[in-house]
Amino acid sequence: MRFDHSRGVVFVRQSWLNDLIICPERARFKLSKPEMSGASDATIMGTALHYGIEQVLGGANPDDMSTIALEHWEELKKQPYKQTNLDPEKSVGQIEGMSQAFVQGIMPNVQFGGQVEMKFSFPLGIVIGDWAVHCEGTMDYVQPDGTIWDWKTASRPYYAKEKQSQSIQATVYSAALVQGMMAGYPVDFRYGVMVRQEKPKSQIVYMQRTAEHHRWLIHTLRPAVMTHLRLGTHESWLMNDTSALCSSKWCDYWSICKGAFISEEGLSLPFQGQPLTFSEPVSDTVSTNNNPQEGYNDSK
Ligand code: SF4
Repeated sequence: MRFDHSRGVVFVRQSWLNDLIICPERARFKLSKPEMSGASDATIMGTALHYGIEQVLGGANPDDMSTIALEHWEELKKQPYKQTNLDPEKSVGQIEGMSQAFVQGIMPNVQFGGQVEMKFSFPLGIVIGDWAVHCEGTMDYVQPDGTIWDWKTASRPYYAKEKQSQSIQATVYSAALVQGMMAGYPVDFRYGVMVRQEKPKSQIVYMQRTAEHHRWLIHTLRPAVMTHLRLGTHESWLMNDTSALCSSKWCDYWSICKGAFISEEGLSLPFQGQPLTFSEPVSDTVSTNNNPQEGYNDSK
C-alpha cells in the first residue's frame, strides 16, 4: 500500500492483498518493515524462469530458454537470499525441467505478439475517508486477444477450482484490463504452472472473471484499506499462524513474531519416535485379584 498525499490516492498492490488474506500481521510487517522481506531460493528460481519466458516471448529461440534462465539465476544468486527447504543440489535440474515444461506444455497454448510485463494502475471507483483507492501491479503477459497469463513455479500442480473461486490476482488483473478499456468482461485468465522438479511437468489453469468478481473485489478492498487507515502500522494486527507459510522458512518476520515466542522444540511433537507409556491409575484400594467383577462382588 502506497500513499500519494499530493493527489489523495492510496495505491493497493495485489500481492499485498494476498498477504493480508494469508496473515494480516504479515501484511502490516510488509508496510512497516519492508527491509526485512527479501528473496529466497524459491523466488530467485521463479524470477529466473520469468526472465527466460520473457526472452522467448520477445523472440529468443525456445531451445535456449533453460540456458538463458540458468545464466540469469547465476546472476541472482550473487545477491543475498534466504534458504528454504529446497535441495540446492537439484536446482539446476529443476530450472532445466521447468524451462522444458514451459516450452513443451505451455508455450504451444500461448498467442505470441502480446504485451510482456504490462504495468497497470487504475482507480477502483471508491473513496475511503479522503483517499481515492487505486490498484496497481504488473501482469506477466497479455495476449493480443486480451487473455492474461501469469507464470507460476510451484512445488505441485494447483487445484483449479480453488483458483477460479479465490484468485485475487485474476480478479485484479482482469479489472485492470477492463478499466483500461483493453477488454470487456468476461476476461480469460490463465496460470501457466511449471512444477519445480527435474522431470518436466506443466499445468494450465483456466479461469474467467466477470463483473460479479469486480464487485466482490471492491467489497473486499474497502475493509482492507480501512484496516490500514484506522489501525496504522505501529500496533500489531490479527495474526494467522495456521497457514503453511507461517514458519521460519517461509515468513520473513518469523523471528520478530511467532519465532520470538515459540522455539523449534515447542513446535515439535513431544513423543515423536518414542513409545507412549501410561502410568497406573491412582487407586486407594489394594487388591490381589485382577478380576474387577469379582472385586466388586467381594466388596458387597
Ligand atoms: S510469523 Fe506467522 S503470524 Fe507472524 S507474521 Fe509471519 S505468518 Fe503471520
